Amino acid sequence: MAEEGEGRIVARFAIHICCDSCSSTSAKRLDVPDVEDAPTTVEELLESALLARQTFCCEVCESRIAYVTSIKRLREKEPIHA
Ligand SMILES: [Zn+2]
Repeated sequence: MAEEGEGRIVARFAIHICCDSCSSTSAKRLDVPDVEDAPTTVEELLESALLARQTFCCEVCESRIAYVTSIKRLREKEPIHA
C-alpha cells in the first residue's frame, strides 16, 4: 500500500468532539504514524500520550476547548462520517 507523501500510518481514527463554547460537534481525522508503541485500537489510543497531545479546535467558533465525545477506528482511506 503506497502512501502519498504522508508517511506510513498504522491506524486511522475519527475523533468526534463537542465544543465547550458553542456546543457544536465536529469530527477530526487522526492518523497514527508507524512509530514504536503506536496505538492501533481505540483502547490503546485512549491510554496513549498521542491523544493527550492533540489540541482539538472548534470549527465553528474556533474555541480550543472541545471535548472528545467518541472515537471510531477507520480503515485506511475510509472517509469520516460526522
Ligand atoms: Zn465552538
